[in-house]
Amino acid sequence: MTNVQQNLEHISQRIQKASERANRKLEDVTLIAVTKEVSVSRTNEVIETGILHLGENRPDGLQKKKDAISNDVKWHYIGTLQTRKVKSVINDIQYLHSLDRISLADEIEKRATSTKDCFVQVNVSQEESKHGLSIDEVEAFVDELKNHKHIRIIGLMTMAPNTEDEAIIRDVFRRLKQLQSKIAAKQIANAPCTELSMGMSGDFEIAIEEGATFIRIGTALVGKEKEAIERA
Ligand SMILES: *Cc1c(COP(=O)(O)O)cnc(C)c1O
Repeated sequence: MTNVQQNLEHISQRIQKASERANRKLEDVTLIAVTKEVSVSRTNEVIETGILHLGENRPDGLQKKKDAISNDVKWHYIGTLQTRKVKSVINDIQYLHSLDRISLADEIEKRATSTKDCFVQVNVSQEESKHGLSIDEVEAFVDELKNHKHIRIIGLMTMAPNTEDEAIIRDVFRRLKQLQSKIAAKQIANAPCTELSMGMSGDFEIAIEEGATFIRIGTALVGKEKEAIERA
């Protein structure tokens, strides 16, 4: 067994236990393997385990992996996307997790050749270092995108603050869930908003307990090998 397989077994058990604690179905949580800090060969190990959702956060990293990796991978773009990079990225991905401004939405509307599944990124904790709209900006933002035919807002995404305090992390996830439910209840045609992208290596169990439907796991699953990438 490769390390990735071993890591996956361990993570899968933890996902299962967290789902049980929350009375949720296992199939309602999709694991995205974040491969941004690992090589193509490590990424191929991930695919061999059967994981088909991969996440990248830079245009060049995405391109490199896409060129080298075949098959039915679903690509998630999880990083800040510069408006000028939309053209080269948007038609290579299935999901965008970082929709955070109208100018980005306008450029996607112009460049996408099909409708894209997007998450609005929310900076629930209002940390300076993080991107995303504040909680109270999101509803107006979603309303403004009603006529963007190439954008389907499938849900909300957040990153928990850097803290050891589980209560703070849980509160952030809970507030995102509340906002997601509120928007979903409005039944806006291009904003079903049924999904929640939250939870990373350090906090995915809390995220699942609080309703995550997509978790984004990097280091706990694939490790880190930045140097290997630079050598490659
Ligand atoms: C890097 C990254 C992840 C994965 O983080 P790990 O802590 O390595 O699991 C998840 N989401 C986003 C937005 C990231 O940039």
